Amino acid sequence: MQSWVIGNWKQNPATNRDAMTLVDALVSAANTGIDQQKCQLMVAPSCIHLATVSARLQGSSLLCAAQDISTHSPSVGAYTGDCSAEQMADAGASWTILGHSERRQYHRECNNILVQKMSNALSQNLGIVLCVGETQAQYDAKQTLAVLTEQLAVIQTLLQQAGQVADCAEILAKRLIVAYEPVWAIGTGKVPTVDEVSATHEYIKQTVASFATPLANVSVLYGGSVNTANADNFAASPMINGALVGGAALNADSFLAIAGAFARAKA
Ligand code: PEP
Repeated sequence: MQSWVIGNWKQNPATNRDAMTLVDALVSAANTGIDQQKCQLMVAPSCIHLATVSARLQGSSLLCAAQDISTHSPSVGAYTGDCSAEQMADAGASWTILGHSERRQYHRECNNILVQKMSNALSQNLGIVLCVGETQAQYDAKQTLAVLTEQLAVIQTLLQQAGQVADCAEILAKRLIVAYEPVWAIGTGKVPTVDEVSATHEYIKQTVASFATPLANVSVLYGGSVNTANADNFAASPMINGALVGGAALNADSFLAIAGAFARAKA
């Protein structure tokens, strides 16, 4: 199974010039070093850099994702500050991250909003990287699986709303990746054990498969303080199909080293 290593640049870097420096370093190294059949690389620049970054990625093996899309319309409308799925696709994104914990925390994104965003993404042929994960308090209270059940329910709701469950499931099977990101591990340097992540991914895979048979092979990535020192350990687990990387994705060498770990392990 092909693995995925996705760089979430968040609100970085400060300038377009720095974004170009990063993408240039990635393109020149990735085209020579990483076998795309074994590890697909993707970067999610901030909205303002999306068009220039995706233009630079043309002809390379790297894909480009948006970090978010508008809830309110898949296309155009009077939604000040929003960017739609159609605009993101036009700027060169083929995927979008949705439900990142920072969106849930700072923008109060709930399941209803996420179902609408997922529907908007699919209407514009964007793939979806759906982020799920528990907070430290929920982890301490052993509520991880209950939280994931509640967050993953957006997939079932989307299928039900689509009416043609089988057709929608076939489309989602090609356009859905789940990223398990414990909130307490994001940007903190703290990580769960590989056994913990593997067991949680098994639960995510079973839950998503229970919604519709075509979703049985959904890729589940781990995210949260992945770095060059721990990537080999995560990559060794057959339950971990790749990584969503924040901080370490802002340095081309460390991002590519993480990708190399997954490419080697999944060879
Ligand atoms: C993230 O924000 O998606 C993330 C995984 O961040 P970091 O790798 O910095 O923990």
